[in-house]
Amino acid sequence: MTSAARQPVTHDVLIVGGGPVGATLGALLARQVDPAAAARVLVLERALPPPLDGASSPTTAAAGLRVSALSRASERVLAAAGAWPAVAARRSAYERMHVWPEGGTPRGAGSLSFDASELAEPDLGCIVENRVLQQAALDALRSAGGTLAVGELRSLDFQADAVDVQTSTGPYRARLVVGADGAQSVARQLAGLDVRVEDYGQLAIVAVVRPQHPHEATAWQRFLGAGTLALLPLAEGSCSIVWSLPEAEARQQLACDAAEFSRRLTAASQQVLGDLRLVGERAAFPLRRLLAPRYAIERFALVGDAAHVVHPLAGQGVNLGFLDAASLAERLADARRQGEDPGALRVLRSYERWRKGDNQAASAAFDGINRFLSFGRGGSSAVLQRGMGWLDGLPLAKRWLIARALGLSGELPEAARRRPG
Ligand SMILES: Cc1cc2nc3c(=O)[nH]c(=O)nc-3n(C[C@H](O)[C@H](O)[C@H](O)COP(=O)(O)OP(=O)(O)OC[C@H]3O[C@@H](n4cnc5c(N)ncnc54)[C@H](O)[C@@H]3O)c2cc1C
Repeated sequence: MTSAARQPVTHDVLIVGGGPVGATLGALLARQVDPAAAARVLVLERALPPPLDGASSPTTAAAGLRVSALSRASERVLAAAGAWPAVAARRSAYERMHVWPEGGTPRGAGSLSFDASELAEPDLGCIVENRVLQQAALDALRSAGGTLAVGELRSLDFQADAVDVQTSTGPYRARLVVGADGAQSVARQLAGLDVRVEDYGQLAIVAVVRPQHPHEATAWQRFLGAGTLALLPLAEGSCSIVWSLPEAEARQQLACDAAEFSRRLTAASQQVLGDLRLVGERAAFPLRRLLAPRYAIERFALVGDAAHVVHPLAGQGVNLGFLDAASLAERLADARRQGEDPGALRVLRSYERWRKGDNQAASAAFDGINRFLSFGRGGSSAVLQRGMGWLDGLPLAKRWLIARALGLSGELPEAARRRPG
């Protein structure tokens, strides 16, 4: 007897990984249908986020160190998923951004500045703790009637009409399985999908620092010649840092004591906010570029970091993932209206065609910035660094760049276009 004969279909869509992207996809899908059908959307997450402590900013606990800069498009997708009110309550909006190269000065010649007021926007985006994002999306999933199961994926067995899914908490049978389980995706491996991975040989150090001078609700980013430093403003006056460095150098920065680390960080920031003082822990993440050549096969699709991992220097990884989630949700809603099977290859390939080109273009752009602006000291880097100052004098080009950073250009899913009411 085949497993197909043993068990009826239990779910329409089973999402492996309840991180920010998988949980948001689950909430979007659950909100498209009535509660009985919403229960047939299941998110499988192996570890729930650590509890929020009630404070309005990242704590010094390691779990609170991971933050993301969210684009306007992501805000809208989160609103469509029902997760935005909980995220908005704990976000830190930033109104300006200054970017400058190793040889330049923060606001002087050679720097590139963006200001929300010049674009008639309230802000350029916001900074949010990853665990806030994840918790808000999981809560939205449950409020919409979707199912959250805490457990780990063990195996996938593809049948003609469904996939048999074995997990640490029991078996399921779903018409469609979505891999949203991050860069090391087990779902992707079990589905037999390849990835191209390039290790950058860099670590991103993340921490919270207290600056001597007010951060002015501004995101600051310096290309260092051998790395990148970003200072992201938090609501209560501190900054979250992302300091990307070659691995050996990053390990030295992690090994020194807090006072020495603060001194080195202050020097790397060119004292743009005066002295920076480390508050609490440091954590580090290895950086790599990952691209899946295919996002979909019959009855299986990839979203978020399971499909693409980009360099964090542009703060776009989870923003691309939210667009994947909204695009796939839209394709699945179309399929439902037309009475189509959600696992049909035609449906999933149309999602893949929609998102893959955009994600690959973004990945290539960030890779180029990393090669030539973060690390370059040769001729082409010098030209590009001078180009930043030149670009600063071109309002139309800046407007285009900001529209890209806000995620408001390209072929967007409906959820990313709709202004929250
Ligand atoms: C230093 C740094 C800074 C960054 N800053 C930004 C930024 O400013 N803006 C931005 O947009 N992006 C940023 N990113 C990228 C962003 O963090 C990722 O793109 C985002 O976390 C991807 O979300 P995801 O839900 O796809 O995957 P993940 O966040 O990796 O979530 C995957 C989930 O799947 C679960 N899981 C894994 N395996 C299994 C299994 N076998 N069974 C069940 N569950 C499983 C995990 O527990 C996890 O919850 C940054 C990344 C780094 C490293």
